[in-house]
Amino acid sequence: MKNKDINKLNEEQLVTEINRHNKLYWEKNSPEISDEEYDLLIRRLEEINPEHELLRKYFAPNVASIGQVKTTPDTKMISLEKTYFFDNAPKGKKSLMSWAEDRARDKEELFYIQPKYDGISANYDGNILATRGQDSNDQNVSDKIPLIELETKGYKGPLDRPARGEIVIRDDDFKNIYKKIKRKSGTAYKNSRNAVAGIMGLKDISEIKAQGAKLTLVDYNLISYSVKYKNLKSKWPEILKNIESLPYPMDGIVVKLADSNYSKSLGETAAFPRGMIAFKLAGARKKTTLKDVAWSSGKNNLTPKGVLQPVELGGVTISNVTLHNYQYLLDRDIRIGDTLTIERAGEVIPHVVNSEPGTDRISPFINECPSCSSKVEVSGVELRCTNPLCPEKIIQRLCAAVKALGIEELGEPTIRKMTKVLGVKNIKDILTLTLNDIYKLEGFKEKSATKLYNNIQNAKRTTDYQFFAALNIAGLGQTFAKSLLKKYTFNELRQLSAEQLAEIDQVGPTMSESIYKALREKSVIIDELLSLIDIENTKNSLDSVSRPTVCFTGKMPEKRSYYEKLAEENGYSPVDKVTKELDTLVVADINSNSSKIQKARKMGIKIIQLDSWLSEIEEAEKKQYRQETL
Ligand SMILES: [Zn+2]
Repeated sequence: MKNKDINKLNEEQLVTEINRHNKLYWEKNSPEISDEEYDLLIRRLEEINPEHELLRKYFAPNVASIGQVKTTPDTKMISLEKTYFFDNAPKGKKSLMSWAEDRARDKEELFYIQPKYDGISANYDGNILATRGQDSNDQNVSDKIPLIELETKGYKGPLDRPARGEIVIRDDDFKNIYKKIKRKSGTAYKNSRNAVAGIMGLKDISEIKAQGAKLTLVDYNLISYSVKYKNLKSKWPEILKNIESLPYPMDGIVVKLADSNYSKSLGETAAFPRGMIAFKLAGARKKTTLKDVAWSSGKNNLTPKGVLQPVELGGVTISNVTLHNYQYLLDRDIRIGDTLTIERAGEVIPHVVNSEPGTDRISPFINECPSCSSKVEVSGVELRCTNPLCPEKIIQRLCAAVKALGIEELGEPTIRKMTKVLGVKNIKDILTLTLNDIYKLEGFKEKSATKLYNNIQNAKRTTDYQFFAALNIAGLGQTFAKSLLKKYTFNELRQLSAEQLAEIDQVGPTMSESIYKALREKSVIIDELLSLIDIENTKNSLDSVSRPTVCFTGKMPEKRSYYEKLAEENGYSPVDKVTKELDTLVVADINSNSSKIQKARKMGIKIIQLDSWLSEIEEAEKKQYRQETL
């Protein structure tokens, strides 16, 4: 399921889907999707309904229990927030470093780093071995003790002393012992995770014991690193390497605040405790052959897609990979027939890590447009069709314009019909369609045609930035358009020279040249469109008057949320990060050298001590009060 498809699901559909995958994973041991894809479903549910009980539910494999044990509250395992990135996470994603930066009260803040084993969480009190059950009670699985070897600090042997940890099968054991062990069905276990769940689910272990099966209980305290915040970045690569080379099945690394009282004081989000996070280990990499390169038309360029000899990565079959653009292939000298190393780490989209030349190599480039057979040319880093009337290009440009204007329920299939049946060539043609025209499209009846007609009419009242983005100027999306239109109205922008455009923040010389050129080339259609469309200006609208931003850092007497609320009440907009847009950084200790403070100094941002800031807003409040009472 693709990201955008997930966003279409409503709460009920999401819950059904999550329950189905939980069942496949926990009961049938045959997941259909990767952990990453599962996380997308969970995250989406969290967006729609952060209070949903499913987010707080603890899952455990079914074990064959010989009775129930009462759970002590502090042995409860809860689900953890996850990240796939150590530092420099892509936009909108959290990295481990940004998480730690937010939690660290100063650079001495201590974190514990432990492997996150992929097995069954268990507790042995010296008498009963219990695994965490799905409900409030734990399951007594003491009958499995004869199969279990304990690994704890300074000891490896029979389970003869209290320990809390995870029941797993060591990688070396799985390789050596389990290839000879047969299940009742006569087949071997597929992977160690399946084997642990399968064996823990047996009512009678005598047969499997006779075959030499062995499980391991790894004590959670066996491997644990403690690292100060200031050393986290420099020590991480070594710790990561050490943990990755451990002989246990793992699906990540747990990082938590060492100060458990502070950790508890941070509380929990709807789904996770705030004091811990799981860093997911890099997804699998695999080598495969590049069988072909398929070029498809976008609104401006031709995009290459690698057609692969299908490989399984993290539980998903991969048969395509993005190859970005012409220059990407050229720089790496990637040709059809080469061997590519594909990775699916964190991001759901697989990417190429490395390429090695194959024996029979064929150029990946094309000379003719796949849709109109016109000549193609290199333009910057891209390959593009030289035909301005290339039918596929027209369709992709129409789709992009329709999307920018937000015409509802008008998708690519209907747009294709419009170009074929009604000769639609540009967005103006769509905006001027009559109800009769729409009737001519296959599949449209009175109700659906009227609805589409009305949706098109509604799109004629729009914002200036949607209109600007709908012009399909390369590199100019809605967000960028909006930032330009905060300073100039659309008509003012049309009057600016390329030099004046280049002076606007964020607009480089190349961009200003292409905006300037496009506005002149499209001048006739822009005028025609403006006579059809009502645009609302962003400049001087409420949207453009933004509140000053403030960021807090360092160990303060009250919780961060207290100061953020105070800031909001006093007309500030609190933010988490130090960027060049930040107006004020409020610090607990002006003499500290935290990364946020260093960054703010470099950027010349106003830095102010907490107490000074507090008296500043107090003064402002008094002034306000005086004005109101005058
Ligand atoms: Zn073409």
